[in-house]
Amino acid sequence: MFQKVLIANRGEIALRVLRACKELGIQTVVVHSTADTDAMHVRLADEAVCIGPPPSRDSYLNIHQIVAACEITGADAVHPGYGFLSENAKFADILAAHNITFIGPSGDHIRMMGDKIEAKRTAKRLGIPVVPGSDGAVTEESEARRIAGEIGYPVIIKASAGGGGRGMKVARSEAELEVALATARSEAGAAFGDDAVYIEKYLEKPRHIELQVFGDGAGKGVHFGERDCSLQRRHQKVWEEALSPALNEAERERIGTICANAVAELGYSGAGTIEFLYENGEFYFIEMNTRLQVEHPITEAITGVDLVHEQIRVASGGGLSVTQKDIRFQGHAIECRINAEDPRTFMPSPGTITHFHTPGGLGIRVDSGVYSGYRIPPYYDSLIGKLIVHGRNRVECMMRLRRALDEFVVDGINTTLPLFRDLVGNHDIADGNYDIHWLEKYLAKGE
Ligand code: ADP
Repeated sequence: MFQKVLIANRGEIALRVLRACKELGIQTVVVHSTADTDAMHVRLADEAVCIGPPPSRDSYLNIHQIVAACEITGADAVHPGYGFLSENAKFADILAAHNITFIGPSGDHIRMMGDKIEAKRTAKRLGIPVVPGSDGAVTEESEARRIAGEIGYPVIIKASAGGGGRGMKVARSEAELEVALATARSEAGAAFGDDAVYIEKYLEKPRHIELQVFGDGAGKGVHFGERDCSLQRRHQKVWEEALSPALNEAERERIGTICANAVAELGYSGAGTIEFLYENGEFYFIEMNTRLQVEHPITEAITGVDLVHEQIRVASGGGLSVTQKDIRFQGHAIECRINAEDPRTFMPSPGTITHFHTPGGLGIRVDSGVYSGYRIPPYYDSLIGKLIVHGRNRVECMMRLRRALDEFVVDGINTTLPLFRDLVGNHDIADGNYDIHWLEKYLAKGE
């Protein structure tokens, strides 16, 4: 087991990883920018190293400084959290070259899945169902026209290097194709420095369903069931559920087995998420994330397994603590992402939290790095906490969520809490009857 882990992140996830390390008796080092001197994870860590000024590229994305912090403190492993360097293959390779363990998959697996065209090819080879579309990158309009004609409109043009919902353009007819192709390519080039794009069938009313998987790096793979992340705004997840209200046990078993086998065959190590769109009983692979996800706690709630413990175990060579038959699903869990944003316009709302009171009681978990008197710096993403609620079934979970939302107090800034108070009383949400466009339509109506 590791002696000392360096946490290369900030906010709630830095605290989340710190808690796991403490429970495992591992010393903790955190790195932080000058804007985060007062952060909770900095206060609670055994050691803290300031690695630069507020902009992420000068601190949380500064590989050189983070490696130096490892050398100075003698950390033998790094946990990257999510975002920042968590899916940076070069970072994983550099750490390996310094004999520091990256708590995550190999640089090669990160690279493979970071290129969406290659990821899709790999998925197909491993027997994972994919969205119909081009086999690789598409550059010529004539080729785009031919492929779109074959799969049928509407189609979506996506950036191979894409992420965060950027660089995607829908074409509903051949007339729209030329402009969509050109715009997607120039957006991809500007955002990612790589203008490779590919074409997929655009699914009209899918749900977003993702499988939590784990590999031991030595040919074993397991799945921890699915999460339903269909409630999105601008392709960003807002509310997540485990298990999905839309799947039956046979479908879960089928797709879960495919994913666990794929991970095993890849020789994948650590946590991963295989994302699908799901429509009319069919799954369509869209991408694989090679890291811990924001919404991992709902999977922990229904399985009772600490996924960060598991990541650390696997990275240290201790293997998985569970086999597939040990993984059982109990009850239902929902996560609400609480952002420091206006609940209607979603404009960021940084500032000082004058009062912060979290709900409690059976089945309630709040993962947050903020506290009363904390000043939210304006430089980073607006997630200030996650409310995770577990119940014996979905109805109990929703009742408990409504009660927890009533108890939650965040004063001094705007948050998305009022949105969740609306959603929890909505009939479609109560019925689990929503697709990936539901939330945008609901917000557009301004109900
Ligand atoms: P990113 O890596 O930028 O998040 P994804 O490929 O994961 O991109 O897609 C993000 C979201 O975009 C999906 O959750 C879904 O809402 C939408 N999307 C992606 N591909 C399709 C498709 N073929 N049809 C319909 N919607 C899609």
